[in-house]
Amino acid sequence: KRIISTELMEEDYKIENSLRPKLLKDYIGQEKAKNNLKVYIEAAKQRKEALDHVLFYGPPGLGKTTLAGIIANEMDVNLKVTSGPAIEKPGEMAAILNNLQEGDLLFVDEIHRLNRQVEEVLYPAMEDYAIDIIIGKGASARSIRLDLPKFTLVGATTRAGMLTAPLRDRFGVVHRLEFYTVEELKTIIMRSAGVFKVEMDEEGALEMAKRSRGTPRLANRLLKRVRDFAQVKYDGRITKEVANFALDLLEVDKLGLDHIDREILYTMMDKFAGGPVGLDTIAASIGEDSGTIEDVYEPYLIQNGLIVRTPRGRMVTDLCYKHFGIEQKQK
Ligand code: ATP
Repeated sequence: KRIISTELMEEDYKIENSLRPKLLKDYIGQEKAKNNLKVYIEAAKQRKEALDHVLFYGPPGLGKTTLAGIIANEMDVNLKVTSGPAIEKPGEMAAILNNLQEGDLLFVDEIHRLNRQVEEVLYPAMEDYAIDIIIGKGASARSIRLDLPKFTLVGATTRAGMLTAPLRDRFGVVHRLEFYTVEELKTIIMRSAGVFKVEMDEEGALEMAKRSRGTPRLANRLLKRVRDFAQVKYDGRITKEVANFALDLLEVDKLGLDHIDREILYTMMDKFAGGPVGLDTIAASIGEDSGTIEDVYEPYLIQNGLIVRTPRGRMVTDLCYKHFGIEQKQK
């Protein structure tokens, strides 16, 4: 697996919980979401009501789970965690809801992966704090309504477009999480270094921030790897030199690109004179699946202005040539 993957990896499990900020004031960046949530939380607390249901969407590793934990903390309620693929039957969802206590926060990660029948249990639960249960079979079957305590559902998804309209409409608060700036990532890395008790200077933090692809999860993972190099190859302190040395060895370049990103870009520049070239052709040239290139590699390259999509295929940009210090071939 790529070190720069923003998906949760096994090595992240151990560190993530210890690095999660617990209060809104310690949560760095995402100012818009944070400011709005602050108001909603305060208002709900004053009214002694459960917070409205909240939906977070955006790429992996930007802090959706962390925010759910912070909301529970700030509201001073219990946090129950589950995920879309973990609940297979409507009865399982009904049981989870029925076990909630007044005010509890239920966090459903990957909520777009709930199946339809399970999702339908959520509709009356979110709207009226109730579930409908069918008793009996055939002609004698009847439905009874069971009241639930007032609770808050926090849903997280990487693909808001895959949510059904009836579910999406039941969230009172919807926030898209954005990629973090280099400065914000630097602050996150400094904070994490404090938790790890690693000595580090600001320039060292900046080097890692630049290569973290806008994603705190990746920033923390790079910090953990660089810390190992600092300990074994240097005197333990992370400086710019140490960070550069470690990240170069890990083959993560100044923009956070790894060898597969580079292979895609070099192929386009070398073999196809910068494009336009079709996705399938690129995929065949580097022996990768075209769907993977489109979903995993391309978004970051496009977002950073290294390639553009045109009706005739993908093209590399001037910025890309500049980044690699390569002269553009005459067409
Ligand atoms: P996924 O959807 O892939 O599960 P996520 O969006 O829920 O990812 P989190 O698990 O909340 O992401 O965050 C990943 C890591 O990044 C956590 O360890 C957390 O400590 C850190 N992190 C995320 N956002 C922030 C932030 N704003 N400030 C400090 N640390 C953060």
